[in-house]
Amino acid sequence: MKITEVKTYNLSYPLIEPFANARSWSKARHAGIVEIYTDAGITGWGEGTSTPSQAAIDACLIGEDPFDIEVIWNTMHQRGGSNAAAISGVDIALWDIVGKALNQPIYRLLGGAFRNQIPAYATGLFKKDVPDITQALMDEAKGYVDQGFSAMKMKIGFGEAYDVKNVAAVRKAIGDEIILAVDANCGYDVGTAIDVGQKIAENDLFWYEEPITTNDVEGYVEIRRALNMRIAGGEGLQGRWGFRDLIQKRGYDIVQPDISIAGGFTECRKVAAMASANHLRVLPHMWGSSIRLAATLHWQATIPDAPQALNPIPSLFEFDMTENRLRTDLAKVPIQAVEGYVAVPQEPGLGIEIDRTVLEKYAS
Ligand SMILES: [Mg+2]
Repeated sequence: MKITEVKTYNLSYPLIEPFANARSWSKARHAGIVEIYTDAGITGWGEGTSTPSQAAIDACLIGEDPFDIEVIWNTMHQRGGSNAAAISGVDIALWDIVGKALNQPIYRLLGGAFRNQIPAYATGLFKKDVPDITQALMDEAKGYVDQGFSAMKMKIGFGEAYDVKNVAAVRKAIGDEIILAVDANCGYDVGTAIDVGQKIAENDLFWYEEPITTNDVEGYVEIRRALNMRIAGGEGLQGRWGFRDLIQKRGYDIVQPDISIAGGFTECRKVAAMASANHLRVLPHMWGSSIRLAATLHWQATIPDAPQALNPIPSLFEFDMTENRLRTDLAKVPIQAVEGYVAVPQEPGLGIEIDRTVLEKYAS
């Protein structure tokens, strides 16, 4: 089989209601989509936070065998001048092709699933332009409990007063049994991150995500030693080299690679192996279209519990609850959280069928 053509699509979906994390307001959602054609009539879909250049496509992909995934990854990285985010979409599309060619879902190609449905945590609870944000957060959090979620994550990093008040309010709204994580989206420096962390810790937080900038290794180590809670991060890191020092120096308790940024299945498996060798937990980050959602499910299904125990800490799947038609409408059959669980697709490859009318509607 040979690759005959590669198309890229830059999708943009305008949000009805903007929302903010600690760093910026979001007014639109974006996805870099890659479609790879072969002479066998099989096509594959992938998503990255950037897409490969035409020069990289011509030099590294056209005429190659899509089964040569590792070779293509290295060629794109070493000679093609592509970063891991751009390679991610290509890598996911190649695994989709191989799965379709072998009539197997990707998780089986990766060695099989430890779980066919994954307990989800609801990602939402952003800052919004509403008269009473505390009440809005409490209502939203209770809504997730009503939908069957046993875990959720809220945004912090908006200053000590906001964080202390609203984390306590959300904890009170959902009760003591629900898992609650917080995400500061790199909004603090080390001293502020520790100070705020100490003040919100009494709310039984499952993890504190990205308290500081992405790659401040010493800063993460300092925060982790100062606080009695799990520290998480890594969603913006690319390639195994991006993760190496943070994992080896124990900057995190939980490593959160994003399959569409870190380098696709091929690279995420290496990051997960490195985390395992250092006794760290991997819970993938997910913030994208139906394609990234499906890819993350396949990969997360193959990550063993760490440590394996009678009652292991659950492998929680990040389920984005914000409004985004690139996630809800791009696949003809949407992937949904049902009673707090998300099923791993069982059809060959990624196991989803793309709706081309939706693709064309949001392509720029
Ligand atoms: Mg995050």
